[in-house]
Amino acid sequence: MLNNIRNIGIIAHIDAGKTTTTERILYFTGLTHKIGETHDGESVMDFLDVEKERGITVASAATKCVWKDCSINIIDTPGHVDFTAEVERSLRILDGAVVIFCAKGGVEPQSETVWRQADKYKVPRMAYVNKMDAVGADFLMVVDQIKNRLGAQPLVLTLPVINEDTFSGIIDLISMKYETYTGVLGDEIIKTEIPAEYQEEADKWRLVLLEKLAENSIELMELFYNNEEIPDTLLIDEARKATIAGNVVPVICGSSYRNIGVQMLLDSVVQFLPSPLDVQAAKAIDLNSEEEINITADTCDFFSALVFKIVSDRHVGKLAFARIYSGSVKAGSYVFNSSKGKKERIGRLVKMHANHREEIDEVSAGDIVAFIGLKDIGTGDSICNENRPVLLESIDFPEPVIQIAIEPRTQSDQNKISDALAKISAEDPTFKISYNKETGQTLLSGMGELHLEVISERLAKEFKIDINIGQPQVAYKETITQSAEQVTRYVKQTGGKGQFAHLVLRLEPGDGFEFVNKIVGGVIPREYIPAVEAGIKQALEEGVMKGYPVVNVKATLLDGSYHEVDSSEMAFRVAAMQSTRDCLKKANPKLLEPIMRLEVTSPEEYTGGIISNISNRRGRMESMEMQGGTQIIRGFVPLAEMFGYSTSLRSITQGRAGFSMEFSHYEERTVSIKE
Ligand code: GDP
Repeated sequence: MLNNIRNIGIIAHIDAGKTTTTERILYFTGLTHKIGETHDGESVMDFLDVEKERGITVASAATKCVWKDCSINIIDTPGHVDFTAEVERSLRILDGAVVIFCAKGGVEPQSETVWRQADKYKVPRMAYVNKMDAVGADFLMVVDQIKNRLGAQPLVLTLPVINEDTFSGIIDLISMKYETYTGVLGDEIIKTEIPAEYQEEADKWRLVLLEKLAENSIELMELFYNNEEIPDTLLIDEARKATIAGNVVPVICGSSYRNIGVQMLLDSVVQFLPSPLDVQAAKAIDLNSEEEINITADTCDFFSALVFKIVSDRHVGKLAFARIYSGSVKAGSYVFNSSKGKKERIGRLVKMHANHREEIDEVSAGDIVAFIGLKDIGTGDSICNENRPVLLESIDFPEPVIQIAIEPRTQSDQNKISDALAKISAEDPTFKISYNKETGQTLLSGMGELHLEVISERLAKEFKIDINIGQPQVAYKETITQSAEQVTRYVKQTGGKGQFAHLVLRLEPGDGFEFVNKIVGGVIPREYIPAVEAGIKQALEEGVMKGYPVVNVKATLLDGSYHEVDSSEMAFRVAAMQSTRDCLKKANPKLLEPIMRLEVTSPEEYTGGIISNISNRRGRMESMEMQGGTQIIRGFVPLAEMFGYSTSLRSITQGRAGFSMEFSHYEERTVSIKE
């Protein structure tokens, strides 16, 4: 039943307790019988070795669990901002999210980044304030920050009871009962009356809750103003509607580590977060009519699915995780990949649990599954039936902005490396591989230092390749600023058959890469034109300033000539490369560098120091704003100046500021690069 499916993500700033909470969820839903603590490196979700070691969650694995007749697919999302692309792609296929905040740290800058991404995809969410047992935990402070920093409407559903510094239980403002958790792992829930000293506060927050929900419900408003009893089910229904509409964010509290409140969290996921029926239709192009259509799980009967993650598995090969948007598909059937225009067979369908796979025969709309057997498959591909081809809106990925050079230590590793890199890049569309001919090094480009570190560690640990790793470097680009023309004659007469190619090329600033062929009268035969284009592209891969790729160039082949005997594709290709290089030099080339959008959150007294540090880093300010006693400073800074920023921010602010940084755009670099 579609009503009984929840596709949710658990989003959290690193260290807020996402792994611990997920572990507890899997325990209480009966999947794992032993709770693995993250600090022991035994987490069930983090199945990649590297993640275990770092205690962070990188890959978006989908895990299925069952709670009270409801099937919950948990799409794991990474907490580090280097992996925002992972977050984006999981948000795209989720129906709802649980955002975990630390009761001490509250809303951190990175949580804000992810919150904004979730806003972009209109993902209904609820907040879980974890670590209520920690010294300094402050539930209402976090509620306040959700309102003031995130601009959301918190719907407070619980209050923590803290007795002499010990977090002992939770007041449920819907049932108006006090819950304590006993038994070995908090399996047993005892509901009692609200402790007398908390009654007044509970009444106050209950009133806030009723007033907020009554705003949109006439039924509730009437009961409320007539002082009549309000059934819990009505409150839950109204809270659910308001959450799904994005008007409120239910906020509950707990301590996953102490096993307090996790069952309530699961109940809340079922009660307040949307099922596949409750969410907006997915947009798609119907390839038969070429019209845009809306796909909903209950009204469309044709099969459509979107692949959101590829994982290579040692045992079964490629696992393509997909969300089924409509219809159903059986294991063993042929499907059409409408993004690639290819028909392929799905060998098997599996659901991933935390520590085992479940093979299933058929999967239907609203669900999440891994396809096994698709060979030519990538993240963002649409899968459908050949007779009803549809193309679902794909997923946008940001550009990689940082590079490291790697070199295998031995020849045999050299051979293994390209295979391993191809596997990793199939899983991760934000990671790119290139090869520097001059130095013989392989260059890995990614979203941030941590992203590339994780990849190089995977090469070493998972693929057992011994490599030397260079320092991270900025992924610069080159472009041209004026138009230029070049006449190139490539003539070689050495002994037997010579080589001949002659062409006239114009390069000018453009948008992306464009090639225009203006040859008339066959002065260069048609069969050589693709070779000219390939030569131009090849030369653009390595610019003439510092060898970075050249972008935004329009190339026009204006004229040329050929020789009956000596001309060949190769001659034209070489000539085009030479011509492009010469022409680039004349076209006033410029270096482009990635500019990052920076956001620093800090106590006010450090503002001056932070701003002058940003300007020393060639940054420019965008805005400054006070929110609940905290200064938020936003600006743009070249990535090249941001290495070691966290250390210097820590020393300026005595460790009291946080920051987040994401790629914004490329811009001309006006100072020269230090060699
Ligand atoms: P993640 O980075 O968000 O996945 O966070 P983890 O689940 O790995 O937790 C980070 C640290 O916080 C670990 O040392 C956990 O043991 C600890 N932790 C998690 N939940 C709680 C909690 O409820 N209370 C306390 N005191 N510590 C917690």
